[in-house]
Amino acid sequence: MSQPLIIAIDGPSGAGKSTLGRMLARELGLLYIDTGSMYRAVALAVIESTINESDDVAVGSLASRIDIDLAGDPDSLRVTLEGDDVTDRIRDEDVTQMSSIISTIPAVRRAMVQRQRELGQRGAVLNGRDIGTVVFPNADIKFFLDAAPEERAERRLAEEREHNTNATYEQTFADILERDRRDTTRADSPLVVADDAIVIDSSGQPIEKVFERMMNTVHEKGRK
Ligand code: C5P
Repeated sequence: MSQPLIIAIDGPSGAGKSTLGRMLARELGLLYIDTGSMYRAVALAVIESTINESDDVAVGSLASRIDIDLAGDPDSLRVTLEGDDVTDRIRDEDVTQMSSIISTIPAVRRAMVQRQRELGQRGAVLNGRDIGTVVFPNADIKFFLDAAPEERAERRLAEEREHNTNATYEQTFADILERDRRDTTRADSPLVVADDAIVIDSSGQPIEKVFERMMNTVHEKGRK
């Protein structure tokens, strides 16, 4: 593997992609690219503009001209939008909902995929929904992380409660199912398992165990 190593991690919301993506990038000394945060930054730009989210042309054009940057090491990745640090803001509920909606727009996806390819070309761990299928179909290693929706909702709720103490399990569970539905049914780049992906169900498993399994795969592939 003398070429830059590209590791794709796809899967639904709350499956552990961010935590494990960070861990892998740190261990392997690779750049970590959280592609979801890029869609979130576009969503925030839409919220802060007068553009309606159902205006595909306007949202697509906005996505192609705004300046989104990911900087820092895997554990302290900062996201900037037009130079402003939006790392915390893009985790708010309104942005989460909006990102799920605007990511169905083909022009938005085209703009993000192009940036993701540029950012990742020198080697990276990328996480998202379409990394192994669309962004880097020739990635060296593709993981598809999954977990039971109830467990994913529990994990998301714990994160949400850090910002919003009123968050309820019922609402978070319903949101997760709705986001899954949008991700898997959209016409452009739906969330599907790539043919050559290694599927890992993290339900009920400690994160260290899943990480060990992923690292074993990286080492095995490296020997080939
Ligand atoms: O992963 P995260 O929840 O931060 O992603 C925010 C939204 O962006 C998701 O709801 C998903 O619909 C969208 N997304 C996507 N393709 C990616 C990454 C995220 O459509 N590669």
